[in-house]
Amino acid sequence: MQVQSKKTFAAIDYGMCDAKNCDPDNGVCAAVLACTHKVIKQMDGAFESPIIFQDLCMGCWDCIEACPAHAIQIKRVT
Ligand code: SF4
Ligand code: SF4
Repeated sequence: MQVQSKKTFAAIDYGMCDAKNCDPDNGVCAAVLACTHKVIKQMDGAFESPIIFQDLCMGCWDCIEACPAHAIQIKRVT
């Protein structure tokens, strides 16, 4: 059986992402909270940028809406 390759997923622009700015009190990434599929994680803890497990991203784009810094974009692979 052949698995169809994924064409779109969410990607973080680390030049725009800053957890200290978007949540000065707790440093919790709003996109992490928004992702019901739990595929964004702050691996290095609060106040650090998250990573997206792109292979598991479902393409719902909830994280894009949640990020106040507009640091997450849809990435398309052609
Ligand atoms: S992805 Fe967006 S919400 Fe998450 S830490 Fe970065 S700027 Fe903040
Ligand atoms: S697009 Fe959806 S599944 Fe993918 S990282 Fe964002 S919130 Fe999670």
